[in-house]
Amino acid sequence: MSMYDLEEEELVAEITGRGARRLLIQLPDGLKNEGPRLASLVRQRTGAEVFVSAAPAWGACDLSLDAALRLKADLIVHYGHNEFLREGSNGIPVVYIPAKSRHEIIPVIEKTIPLLQGSRVGLATVVQHIHALPEAKNFLESKGFTVQIPGRGPWAHGGGQVLGCDYFGLKRIEPEVDSFLVIGSYFHALGASLSVGKPTILADPYGGTVRNLDHDRAKVIRQRYAMVEKARQAQSFGIIVSTKPGQSNPTIALSIQRQLEENGKKGVILYADEVLPDKLLDFTDIEAFVDTACPRLALDDPERFSKPIVTRDEIMVVIGAWSWEQLLERGLVRL
Ligand code: SF4
Repeated sequence: MSMYDLEEEELVAEITGRGARRLLIQLPDGLKNEGPRLASLVRQRTGAEVFVSAAPAWGACDLSLDAALRLKADLIVHYGHNEFLREGSNGIPVVYIPAKSRHEIIPVIEKTIPLLQGSRVGLATVVQHIHALPEAKNFLESKGFTVQIPGRGPWAHGGGQVLGCDYFGLKRIEPEVDSFLVIGSYFHALGASLSVGKPTILADPYGGTVRNLDHDRAKVIRQRYAMVEKARQAQSFGIIVSTKPGQSNPTIALSIQRQLEENGKKGVILYADEVLPDKLLDFTDIEAFVDTACPRLALDDPERFSKPIVTRDEIMVVIGAWSWEQLLERGLVRL
């Protein structure tokens, strides 16, 4: 049995209920292998034609609207994330299936208890474990903790949910908690720790490991400070805009271009679907990049890029519009 609930019966009911005849199914990398089985099940049970996307699906931001249009699909089925964009931006409806995890969470939460600081805990997770939050909360309360689950953010639409670019819920409850506990992956817990000032603990139900992110946070902040200082030396900037529907920020890019020019620097806007470090090498006259797409592109693995790359917020420090302290106060991660 899969460790994820792919809700096959609900999927068939959606397809037949909507009368869909041609589907595009998107799955994140970890679930891609389920694509052929789902396609054959759907074809058998509904008679619909099925295209399984082999392209990356990093988040619900990465909705294949253009591909669905070209394929003349009448329904997109997007696995592994919940709603990010509203349906119908190109008229094709989207069914989101979060793929709820069947992993046990209490054993790994128990391991975090010695790492939690203070008695007030902010508890959040990724979409796969949201259904397990009440169980986790009850367990922590039975151990004497007071537990707060944040409300939704602008992109993370579930209560208690975080995304790699949306920790607004945690920021809101930060004054009322002593530490945060994030159930999920290192990626999501690191993003949380870069967004709040309180200790952040990871409980990873997949590997059964726990980790205090204080050290990682401090390391990334040092790296980002150095990156901002390097970008200050640059005169010409490539401002990256993504075509991915949920990451596309052309208005912000235009505003950054204007502000760079007001500060005596040059800026050109670069448009791409996948931002590949190798492809940026072709722009030899550009000295630094500004990332207006997924903020984690710049923040995670900046060494993949051969030139300095800063986020849309860090560029404000580069041009002197914000202080470094103001940036930290806002948090380093924002889409
Ligand atoms: S923008 Fe980046 S962090 Fe946000 S949902 Fe998309 S892939 Fe994840």
